[in-house]
Amino acid sequence: MGQNRRHGSAEMIATESRLETGVYPKRQVAVVRGAGARVWDAEGREFLDCVGGHGVANLGHCHPAIVAAVQEQASRLLTCPEIFHNDQRAAYLEELAAALPFPSRIFFCNSGAESIEASIKFARLITERPRIVAAKRGFHGRTLGALSATWEPKYREPFIPLIPGFVHVPYDDPEALEAAVDDLTAAVILEPVQGEGGVRPASPGYLAAARRICDAHGALLILDEVQTGFGRIGHLFAIERDQVIPDILTLAKSIAGGLPMGATVVHERHGPFSSGVHGTTFGGGPVVCAAARAVLRVMQEERIPQQAAEKGQWLIDTLRGLNLRRVREVRGLGLLVGLELKERVQPFLAALLDRGVLALPAGPTVLRLLPPLVISYDDLDTVVQQIRHVMQ
Ligand SMILES: *Cc1c(COP(=O)(O)O)cnc(C)c1O
Repeated sequence: MGQNRRHGSAEMIATESRLETGVYPKRQVAVVRGAGARVWDAEGREFLDCVGGHGVANLGHCHPAIVAAVQEQASRLLTCPEIFHNDQRAAYLEELAAALPFPSRIFFCNSGAESIEASIKFARLITERPRIVAAKRGFHGRTLGALSATWEPKYREPFIPLIPGFVHVPYDDPEALEAAVDDLTAAVILEPVQGEGGVRPASPGYLAAARRICDAHGALLILDEVQTGFGRIGHLFAIERDQVIPDILTLAKSIAGGLPMGATVVHERHGPFSSGVHGTTFGGGPVVCAAARAVLRVMQEERIPQQAAEKGQWLIDTLRGLNLRRVREVRGLGLLVGLELKERVQPFLAALLDRGVLALPAGPTVLRLLPPLVISYDDLDTVVQQIRHVMQ
């Protein structure tokens, strides 16, 4: 408390505004504590968190199993580079591989964008081809390789020239994909549900069509589950719903319960790569691996994906039932939910924040809800009531 009084929200906000680079569109809130689906600011103001750490907090804030795993590991070994073997990494590799629906080899990194970078390098390495086909409205991160796959012109244009060989086709359109893939295509990269691009689930059959098109041309299929993975859409991984096996699967966000971690999963048939072709200093560290082990355990013990499926269906049905006149469509899968408005979303995000609900945009007119999957129905109901209030 003493510390909070010396550093109130206003001081934190002023300091960050002065010393950071300004690249983030910031809300006027300083979050200092979290538990489950709630966070608090320095003055004790409580918020229901439907940002969920940008999809990082699928198990909520400070889940006791993750906190315990991190504390335990932190006092034993904090760091261990990949040139040595490690107990937590070996155990997590085994557990993650067992949870995946295809036999795999796994590369660990520290973020979603890094998992995409590795996927692009691996695809070029495997196929010895230059081109990547990505989707309009697709989002894959902000580093130069990942940004080349990302579609949004306002993210891309200041940084042109990006990596050559990337094209973008309309999402959810197998014919457009078919027309773009050829014998120079290394890979097609897609999200099973476009998250940042407006919460757009692929139609049933689209990813299977993408699989067939890739196979016909000897191209790889990269599925980006950075946002959809770890229970978010009602399955541990979206590929279980779509019954499609990718060549490469990218994971990050909720993989380690809030700690920075990513993984690039390569189908076993592509074999090991030669040593030295890729690497990263922090990859597969013991603390994040211990946290990620706890995440998988809790996902299974508490049936988190099923919870997300049930709560998500309730949330989507309830929001649709409100028939809000400003809302064009409510869509989503599991607890990845979007409300497409007939007007700009920004004022509603601000109004919700004033009423204690943190939410995200997904493009200019979509309100995106990414609550922790452990959120209670009472809290979800509060979120619905606040949305109804600000949108009436
Ligand atoms: C967030 C996100 C990324 C980028 O992850 P970072 O950790 O922010 O680099 C990539 N792909 C998808 C689908 C995402 O949602």
